[in-house]
Amino acid sequence: MVKVGSALLVDARTGRLNRSWLKTLVDDLLRLHRRGQQVILVSSGAIALGRRHLGLAPGALRLEESQAAAAVGQIRLAHAYKELLEAGDVTVAQVLLTLEDSEQRTRYLNARATLEALLALKAIPVINENDTVATAEIRYGDNDRLAARVAQMASADCLVLLSDIDGLYTADPHRDPRAQFIERVMRVTPEIEAMAGRANSEVGSGGMVTKIAAARIAVNAGCHMCIASGHQRHPLRRLESGARCTWFMPASTPLAARKQWIAGTLRPAGAINIDAGALRALHGGKSLLAAGVTGTLGRFESGETVSVLAPDGVEVARGIAAYSDSDASRIMGRRSSEIEAILGFRGREELIHRDDLVILQHDHRPQEHRPTAHAAPGSVTEMKP
Ligand code: GLU
Repeated sequence: MVKVGSALLVDARTGRLNRSWLKTLVDDLLRLHRRGQQVILVSSGAIALGRRHLGLAPGALRLEESQAAAAVGQIRLAHAYKELLEAGDVTVAQVLLTLEDSEQRTRYLNARATLEALLALKAIPVINENDTVATAEIRYGDNDRLAARVAQMASADCLVLLSDIDGLYTADPHRDPRAQFIERVMRVTPEIEAMAGRANSEVGSGGMVTKIAAARIAVNAGCHMCIASGHQRHPLRRLESGARCTWFMPASTPLAARKQWIAGTLRPAGAINIDAGALRALHGGKSLLAAGVTGTLGRFESGETVSVLAPDGVEVARGIAAYSDSDASRIMGRRSSEIEAILGFRGREELIHRDDLVILQHDHRPQEHRPTAHAAPGSVTEMKP
């Protein structure tokens, strides 16, 4: 994933898009895409581009002015990306997100599914905050943290923040000659945060403080993050050939971070009973299919975390259900190819995909949904259609 800020995209003097520079960035992205890497771009620049077209005076804008500027600028930005990416035979997709899309569970899951589908279809999503509708209190306001949340949503393994500075310094290098460059950050400590406060950069709404906040989100999601200068042409190619930047190292991989989060769910919404065959499949690293399900307990929606109970009632795994309890009980025991005919829509093949499933260690005793007489597998089968 790459995030590019307004200061790089828009010429401060003319208020126009730095088109020739942008073309070199897009060329770099196309190169990654051709190599088979999944690419997501978070692009700022809408407000900076739009204000010139509306003839707004320099200086701070009122909220409704910046929203109007975003409306005007975003369409120009989207147009430029469409032209540049489609010249390289790649489909571009515009995704405008608000803070709620990353903070509210169902919207988060929905946005994640859309991104997954776009990437699977080999499109390059170009993302910005939906500035025209987001109100002041519920705005990200900066694309650094937005990009980090998208990286988490997409289980990205690397996020590059292209900036007007080549990384993190112990102090502002323009003002303090003793400022030292930091190549690698293993942990985002309060000390690192304090450096960010001293080393402010950038004309956009970001600055070093929001970049460090982004780093905290990214590394916790298992994503590497780097702050690099975007001033030169072909900024990503330069980075690959060793240009200076600051790396923030994640503690784990995106998949491990996601599984940790699933395993740590305090209260699974419900439970799914499985048969011995499914239990063997899960231990073999496979997904949970409807065929191996013998019952459901409690109410859950698709996207919620559920417990998986072995035939003896012990909680053996946790995972994110791809179907609600009522849909799951209609398709249980059936083959995945029958799902569409039974439910009338085409959902996922798996009831719980293996990437969304964690096998629990033995010291994990079942807590909620401990099978009781009325919830024994025998009674659950009555839920079959
Ligand atoms: N979403 C804003 C825009 O496109 C930019 C936010 C930022 O500067 O990070 O103009």
